Parts: sequence; C-alpha cells; structure tokens
Amino acid sequence: MTLRGRLTSAFLVVVLGPVLLGSIFVAVTVGAVNRERTTERLDHAATTVSVAVGAICRQLQASADAVAVVPAESRRAVADQLVARGLATEILVTDPEQPNLGRSATTGDPGGAGRDCADPGAGEPSRVSASAYAQDVTVIAAQRIDAALLDRLGEAAGVAVTLGADVPGAAGTARRDLRAEPGRPVPLTLTVPTGEPTFRYLALLLIVLVTAAVAVLAARWLARSTTRPLGDLAWAADRVANGDLDTRVPIPRPDELGRLAGTFNRMTRELQSYVQALTASRDQLRRHLAILGDTLSSTHDLDRILPVILRTAMTATSARAGLILLTDPADGRLAARCGFGLAGDWDMPGAELPHRAVLGTVAATGSPLRGNTGQPACESYLAVPICAPPDEEAGPEEGTLGVLALFDRLGGASFEDTDLRTLRTFAGQAGVAVHNVRVHEEAQRLSLTDPLTGLWNYRYLREVLRREVERASRFGRMLTVLVLDLDHFKEVNDTYGHTAGDQVLGEFARRIRIGLREVDVAFRQGGEEFVVLLPETDAYGGVIVAERLGAAVRDRPVLVEPRRPGLPDRIPISVSIGIAVFPEHGATAQEVLDAADEALYAAKNAGRDTYRLAVRVSRGGTEGHLDPATAVTGGPQPPRHGRGR
Ligand code: GH3
Ligand code: MG
Ligand code: MG
Repeated sequence: MTLRGRLTSAFLVVVLGPVLLGSIFVAVTVGAVNRERTTERLDHAATTVSVAVGAICRQLQASADAVAVVPAESRRAVADQLVARGLATEILVTDPEQPNLGRSATTGDPGGAGRDCADPGAGEPSRVSASAYAQDVTVIAAQRIDAALLDRLGEAAGVAVTLGADVPGAAGTARRDLRAEPGRPVPLTLTVPTGEPTFRYLALLLIVLVTAAVAVLAARWLARSTTRPLGDLAWAADRVANGDLDTRVPIPRPDELGRLAGTFNRMTRELQSYVQALTASRDQLRRHLAILGDTLSSTHDLDRILPVILRTAMTATSARAGLILLTDPADGRLAARCGFGLAGDWDMPGAELPHRAVLGTVAATGSPLRGNTGQPACESYLAVPICAPPDEEAGPEEGTLGVLALFDRLGGASFEDTDLRTLRTFAGQAGVAVHNVRVHEEAQRLSLTDPLTGLWNYRYLREVLRREVERASRFGRMLTVLVLDLDHFKEVNDTYGHTAGDQVLGEFARRIRIGLREVDVAFRQGGEEFVVLLPETDAYGGVIVAERLGAAVRDRPVLVEPRRPGLPDRIPISVSIGIAVFPEHGATAQEVLDAADEALYAAKNAGRDTYRLAVRVSRGGTEGHLDPATAVTGGPQPPRHGRGR
C-alpha cells in the first residue's frame, strides 16, 4: 500500500468513524425522544379528556337533580330550560304512576338513556346520562356524544378523539385506549401523529452520505498534496545519488515539506560546490605530482627538487606556508633550504624561523610534531622529520636528514591526522631525494680523494689547479704551488714494512692539513709525493709555509704500531719541498707544476729536508728551466736519517 493510500485510509477512518457513530446516536436518541413525547402527550390528553367527560357527568347530575327537586308541574318547564341552555341534550322524567306522562325530552333524538355516569354498564355508547329520584318520579339527564363534542374534546386535549375502544389506528400514529369507568362511562380512543421518522432517517442518511463523499474527496486531496512533494523529493534524491548534482526540487509551500525541500536544495548546492572544489584541488595536485615525478627523475639538484616537494605538500594539505630544513652533514646544524609563504629573511643563516625550537626537536627526536599556538603568524604547524630510506644503508652518525614543516592550514582549522600522513609521504620523497644527492656527492668525493690519507687525489689536483690558475689569472692574483716528497721513504718501507710506511704517509698528510689555512688545499699526487695549493699567496708566503711544514715533519718522529722488535717505535722523517709561483714561474697550470717539480729536484739535490724556490722563467718561453744559481736555498740542513745514503 502506498503512502498516499495509507494517508487516505487514515483520514477516512478518523473522519467517517465519528460521523457514522454520531448519526447512529442521533437516530436512536431522536426515536426515543419522539416516543417519550408522544406518550407524554397521550397521558396529558387522557387526563384532559377524563376531566372533561367527568365535568359533563357532573353537569348532567346537577341538571337531573334540579328537575327532580322542583314541583311536578314545573318540571317540564325547568327541563326545557336546561336543555335550551345546553346543559343536557335530553331530560327524561318518568312517573311509574303515570306511564303516559312520557318523556319530557325537548330536543335531540329520543334514543334512550345511554350509559349511566355512575354505573356505565352496557348501553348505547353515544350517550351519557345521570339520574335523580324524587318521591314519585325518576329524572334522567342525558347528553349525546356526537362528532362535534368529540372534536371539541380533541381540540382541548390536542389529540384526535374517537368513540369506542380498539379502533384500529392509522400508520404513523400512536393511540391510547380509555375504557369506560365510573365518571367516564364511554370508551374513547385517543390518537396522536408520531411525526415522520422515515423522513428524518432519510435526511440523516443523506447527511452521512454527503459527509462521506466530502471526506473521501478531502482525504484524496490531502494525501495527494502531502505525498506529491515527498515523491518529488525522492525522485531528486535518486538523481543526486546517481551523480546529477544540478538537480533541484520545487519548493511547494512554506510548510515543513517546503523547508525540507529548501534544505535538500541547499544541501545539494553545497555538495556541488564541495565536489567542484575537490575536483579543482585534485587536478592541481595531479599537476604538482607530475612536476614532482619529472623533477625527481631528472635531476640531482636539491635546489630544484626541494621546492617542488614543498609546493606539492602545501597543495595537498592546503597549507599557507612551508619550510624545508636540512641537517648539515659536516656540523649537524639545521639550516633552512627552501620555504614559501614565510615573512622576513628566513633564508639567511641564523635567521629567526617560526617555531625553531619545535623544528629542532623534530630533527633531534625524529618524531613528528603538530600544534596550534597563539602566535599570529604560523599559528598552526605540522613538522615531520626527513629521513633516509630505511632499506638503504645509512651512515651511523646519520640521524634525520632534515625537517619538512607546514604552517597555517587554509580555512583556519589545525592540521589533522590525514595531513600528517600526507606530509610523511612527501617527507619520504624528500628523504629519498636528499639521500640520493648525498650518495651522489659522496661517490663524487670518493672518486676525487685518496683513501689512504683522505686528501684530494691527482685527478682533482689537475682540476683545481686549472681552476685556480684561471681565477688568479682573471683577477690578477698570485698562486703558489708546493710539491713535497718524503726523503728516503723507500728505506722506511724496507726497514719498518709497508704497513708502517702507510702509517707514516697518513700522519704526514695529517700534519700537512693542520699546518694549512682553510683556503689552502692539499693533494696526494701519488706515492709519497704531495702537492699543496696556496691561493692568494706569493713566493714569500710559500717559503713560510714550506718552512712550517718541514719543521712539523722533522720535529716529531712518527709513531708506528705495532712496534717491530729491535727497532724504535718512532720513525724520524723529513721532507723536501719545491716551490713555484703563478704567474712568476709558469703561465699555465702545467708549467707551474713542472717548475715546482724542478725546484723539488733542486731541494733533493741540495741534500734533502729543505726547500727550493723555482727559478724565474721568461713569459714567452715554452718551458721553464731551472737555474741552480738563482734557486733560493731553504731551511737548515737536516740531520741525515742514517739509514742508507
Ligand atoms: P728520495 O725521494 O729521498 O730520493 O728517496 P726515496 O726512497 O723516497 O725514493 P723514491 O721516490 O724512489 O721511493 C719512493 C718509494 O715510496 C717507493 C715505494 O716503495 C714507496 N711508496 C710509494 N707509494 C707508497 C705507498 O702508498 N705506501 C708505502 N708504504 N710506500 C709507498
Ligand atoms: Mg718520491
Ligand atoms: Mg721520496
């Protein structure tokens, strides 16, 4: 059964039930009241009629008495007078002595005495009479009960009066039979109409039918007007469920259904704008992800990768601002590498960063932090650590690589768990990128360094020397090259073993490194030969460095382990150094290096543990040559090693 059918039935039950019950009640009540009123009327009429008949009897008795008491000769005259005045229709005087005196009836039919008021008995019911006796005569006063009298009686009593009992009544009437009794000697029948109950019941039935018809029509209309908006709403909801968000329902009336329709329309509108916003943001995110994929696969440049990761993370989480900090592998300090939406000079070293303490904690603990502070800028924040991919072998000192932080979610709300998950994903990307770049850098570094001493190798020497010569040439600066060669190193190997020789080389490299400025660069050229580049340094500066390095080597013999039996644990060593200066001793990197080599040769020749400065060469010359006469003699003559030469 449909909703409309149910509503119609309910309405009909509610309306028709009381109408039917009410009409039955009215019908029953009207019948009862009618019967009661008829009975009351008949009771009243019976009393009235009885009293009237009784009065007639008393009047007849009085007339008979009056005739009886007068003298015999006046009786006739009195009787005539009484009849003439209408007190009786006939007065009979009978004398047993004079049977022929006859009746003295005056008018009316001389029908006989009729029924005696005192003793009704059986007699002509159309007459009533009363008798009186004198000593000689009997006087009977009679009254005829004719139609006129019955009409008058009926009129006085408000009913129809007929003579005789058990007269069959007409339809639609009620009757009362009055039997003859002393004081009312004639039987009478009283009848009253009982109204028209059939007509009333018909009227009632008509009213009920009309009411029922009206109720059915009203119920149908009510059910239709109630269920039609609901049907529209169901149809629209179905369409919305199928994805048609343009659907709207008409608003019928400003009632509850109208409000429901209005709310449905508003809901659909908001859903539509929400879906549009989501679609737009999804498209934006797709574009960002495409850029991110391209960038990650095409470059090892962190300055290009990190902004793209940060931008995409901000788009994905609707953040207003973002920041990426990386831990410096050298000193472990956290430095800002890339940021968007931040005020001030956040990218300057040591600049004030939003929530710096929080970012430091995230980097130190490796766990993400999320919060909402009262600070006006960057009120809410979400920071996750950037970690190296877990499946790859990370260096033991390598904790977090950095921190990825977002600030102020657009729309005012703070960051949620889903944002945290999203940001972790992007931090993972950043971690892979940073890790790859670090690995790449490390590989490059390893290919340029010497594993035994940690100094730059010959390959890098050529690269740096070429660059430095070019720079010095462009800016008109000087550059000094030192070539160092350990003295009698072959003997160290032969005497103490190759392992001890390696230790000596490592220690020698260390002493070179700590004896230099930060801008100076040391290289292992090969074997026990080393090169030091001193930018912005002239021959005088080069000589000072050579003296300092020579002393650093000479002054403290190198400790080797394990100690060999029968040999001292400290090996005294010395170094010979050749010095050449750009542009004085060569116009190209190779020329300067060759000049320094020549100077070294001179130092060796001079007895070792000393330095020599290259001789000046002519600018146009293709090859520098050493003039021993002009070579600068360095340092004191070292003590001989005493092993071999
Ligand atoms: P001088 O230079 O004073 O003329 O004498 P020297 O003994 O140093 O002469 P030379 O340059 O001919 O010998 C170099 C030796 O250095 C040869 C080789 O055994 C040794 N050597 C080269 N590279 C290494 C290395 O990596 N480790 C060790 N332990 N020895 C090396
Ligand atoms: Mg050598
Ligand atoms: Mg040597």
